[in-house]
Amino acid sequence: MSQQLIEHAQPLTVLAEDETMFRDSVREFAEAQVRPLVRQMDEEAKIPRALIDRLFELGVMGIEIPEAHGGAGGRFFHAVLAVEELSRIDPSIGVLVDVQNTLVINALLRFGTEETRRRWLPALASGSVGAYALSEAGSGSDAFALTTRAQEDGDGFVLNGRKLWITNGNEANIFIVFATVNPDAGYRGITAFIVERGTAGLSVGKKEDKLGIRASSTCELVFEDCRVPRANVLGEIGKGYKTAIETLNEGRIGIGAQMLGLARGALEHSIAYTKERKQFGRAVAEFQGVQFQLARAAMEIEAARLSVYNAARLRDAGRPFLTEAAICKIFASEVAERTASLAVNLLGGNGFVKDYPVEKLYRDAKIGQIYEGTSNLQLQTIAKQILS
Ligand SMILES: Cc1cc2nc3c(=O)[nH]c(=O)nc-3n(C[C@H](O)[C@H](O)[C@H](O)COP(=O)(O)OP(=O)(O)OC[C@H]3O[C@@H](n4cnc5c(N)ncnc54)[C@H](O)[C@@H]3O)c2cc1C
Repeated sequence: MSQQLIEHAQPLTVLAEDETMFRDSVREFAEAQVRPLVRQMDEEAKIPRALIDRLFELGVMGIEIPEAHGGAGGRFFHAVLAVEELSRIDPSIGVLVDVQNTLVINALLRFGTEETRRRWLPALASGSVGAYALSEAGSGSDAFALTTRAQEDGDGFVLNGRKLWITNGNEANIFIVFATVNPDAGYRGITAFIVERGTAGLSVGKKEDKLGIRASSTCELVFEDCRVPRANVLGEIGKGYKTAIETLNEGRIGIGAQMLGLARGALEHSIAYTKERKQFGRAVAEFQGVQFQLARAAMEIEAARLSVYNAARLRDAGRPFLTEAAICKIFASEVAERTASLAVNLLGGNGFVKDYPVEKLYRDAKIGQIYEGTSNLQLQTIAKQILS
């Protein structure tokens, strides 16, 4: 093996100096600024704008945006670290940052023209929240069965239809919207548009009342004769399906990171509580039965971390990562559910009440198996690869 190869083969979990500094700054922020608000945000089902502003100041709302456009000039791996650290404290904040970076900004960076980037990226780096609107009532897993229509009209398009389940719908200023310019062309009609809040004909509809990640807004979007100029087309007309597939493949790694952070948070609560709580005259953590449960959770979290970091590092290295992204999402979300469930068990009655943080993590964990492709759809992707 060449010396050069040996030098570059880094253990997956060893962070570069810039990664360590970045991770530590997000961790510190999450402890100081997010943790005190977690219960209130869950109860009020709202993220205070002041906290969103502080996330922008921290630099986690424009991680991969080049410095020339006002962003942090980071890599995808930095986004994964940010989502993981924030989700360790609150997965609702994790998904706000995840959608902003791994879907919206990612789509603009990869598919936008220089003019598109100049126009939208500085706003996204400095205060504008983004949302990614693909799903509809009739098209979830079968996303390309969408029916929102974009009719060509002079030097623009007129959008009509409804989007469902749109994360950041309440806070967003910039929406990436998938619509079809030609329903007869099937997926080849799908086109991505950038639509700004305030555009006539766009309204944010019902906000969902959810089981978990309650502080994260999930809204319906309604388009009624909503006119957007041709300059707002993102990527090529009729190639929106490619934009969706490719950004969602990357977004999935972000959800893996969200679930990894959640699982770490749940295990930390379990360890702290069981070391403190005494039954039968001893700390609960001294019972071997409990120790083995904690050890198993730690083992699963380590495996989840390796799969998430590997997928993210493959992506940054420009190597194929489709299967790895699907694996890390499904695995990390299952580990999150199991670890949060264990945390509820190990806190006993206190695990079941809102005075302690773990019942919320248990509720929050469930979404990892649903959005950005359900677990069945991830299994389909993995199966297709291994059987081809
Ligand atoms: C909180 C939340 C936030 C969301 N945020 C966004 C967002 O920001 N933007 C956006 O565009 N969408 C968003 N979504 C939508 C999300 O991506 C969809 O809910 C998800 O893709 C599943 O679609 P569906 O709900 O229509 O379920 P369905 O597709 O109807 O699936 C129902 C069940 O059938 C199974 N199933 C379907 N097809 C198959 C198959 N071929 N083989 C085996 N099983 C199958 C599924 O796995 C699932 O168990 C969000 C959803 C939620 C709940």
